[in-house]
Amino acid sequence: MCSLSWIRSDKSVQLFFNRDEYYSRAAASLPVMLENGHVQALMPIDPVGGGSWMCVNNHGLAIFLLNNYEISTLNDQKYRSRGLLVKSLGLSGTLEQVVQNIKSEDFPQYAPLTLCAFDCHKEYIWGWDGAVLRKQNPDGFIASSSLRPKEVIAERKALFDAARSNPDQLRRLHTLHSDDPEVGFCVHREGAGTRNYSEITLTTKQVTLDHAAGAPCETALLSYHLKRVA
Ligand SMILES: [Zn+2]
Repeated sequence: MCSLSWIRSDKSVQLFFNRDEYYSRAAASLPVMLENGHVQALMPIDPVGGGSWMCVNNHGLAIFLLNNYEISTLNDQKYRSRGLLVKSLGLSGTLEQVVQNIKSEDFPQYAPLTLCAFDCHKEYIWGWDGAVLRKQNPDGFIASSSLRPKEVIAERKALFDAARSNPDQLRRLHTLHSDDPEVGFCVHREGAGTRNYSEITLTTKQVTLDHAAGAPCETALLSYHLKRVA
């Protein structure tokens, strides 16, 4: 369960991400800075897998990971944590470098996922179904859901389409609840819900991350700024 939506304008993009997770999973850290040479990356760390679901860096990149629940996996198979992909790709210097790094990854060691890489001009999205890695071309919105995925994602997409032209409406959409607790972007259901919210703005000059370590309807945002390296 997770929802990502975005809106582009001239040389900038605003992204909104709800991370839904089981309440029994240990809480992630606040965003921490990781460095690799001239790349500085901000990402919260999930203590269970040691990786992350989102990352921004000072080269103007944002990386996101969504689990893919629509494809069943073998229960006894031991997978490498998908969050480790975000942790390593987030230290890339350009989108093209992300593409190169993805080509050298051994995907069969990961459970099915959707991986997204953005800069202020364009994005690349890949879906890994456990057998094939395919480029995807979604139009401003991606979601995953462990319960009734096809139905829930279609209903969330309809809500997105009604809000997609305006960043303020998208921000509000990510805090909204619904009679069906899975359909509202801000999920509160038994055992699981929205555990983190991130809003990211990428421009040619700056990278901004507003992060909530809790459900966005009830948690204050912390703001982080990175000056872009040319
Ligand atoms: Zn809420």
